[in-house]
Amino acid sequence: MTAIARIVRSAVEGAAAPSPIANRLLAALRPDALAELSPHLVLVDLPQDAVLFDVGDDVEHTYLPCGPTQVSLLVVTSDGQEIEAASIGFEGAVGGMVSAGFKPAYGRAVVRVAGHAFCLPTSRLEEIKTRSPVVADLFDRYADVFVAQMMQVVACNALHPIEQRACRWLLFAHDRSGDVPIRLTQETLAQLLGVQRTTISAVARGLQDAGIIHIGRGRVEVLDRPALEKRACECHGAVEAHFRKILPKIAD
Ligand SMILES: [Zn+2]
Repeated sequence: MTAIARIVRSAVEGAAAPSPIANRLLAALRPDALAELSPHLVLVDLPQDAVLFDVGDDVEHTYLPCGPTQVSLLVVTSDGQEIEAASIGFEGAVGGMVSAGFKPAYGRAVVRVAGHAFCLPTSRLEEIKTRSPVVADLFDRYADVFVAQMMQVVACNALHPIEQRACRWLLFAHDRSGDVPIRLTQETLAQLLGVQRTTISAVARGLQDAGIIHIGRGRVEVLDRPALEKRACECHGAVEAHFRKILPKIAD
């Protein structure tokens, strides 16, 4: 059974399941536009480290994360190293901006923080975009902010010190997790940021000693958000500001 099949088989049912508005991209749609998508949305449970698609795969499904769920889009080098090009949470979609027809993935999409997501066939989404200008406009706008996020990550990785970059990543995750600790190991964060585990350990220890975060077993708790913002570079704020201009209904 493929990873995707396992995920779809674990579709969540029951009264506690989130509604489509738990994804803010879907929540921004007018009721009539949401009604076009709703019959095709399946709520799925995305386990930690699940690969939603890999390099060269046809992007057959689009995922819309809910709540704290977070997916990393990774660039994979020929020697197997991975570095994060973008994080996608409840503000966005994974796979929704690809072109029609065969859609070979350039990167690898991995579930970084487990949780729920809505899933629909990408071909179905493309079909709905052709008859619903509102849905097409929403995904076009999201594609714009997604590209902006990736551009900022390029600049951040090239120009900013590792502590600022780690704080930028933690701010993004904290936006989505709220008061719930972020499920994250230091090893994973090191991998995402393309540095040694010992480098991240030193950064994390410094932030913990300053009372900004608390590091638990496989999780990180943000204790002082304003201090974390001060330690971060400008990148998180720059992307959020662009998001507010392009998709104000989602950012507010
Ligand atoms: Zn930066």
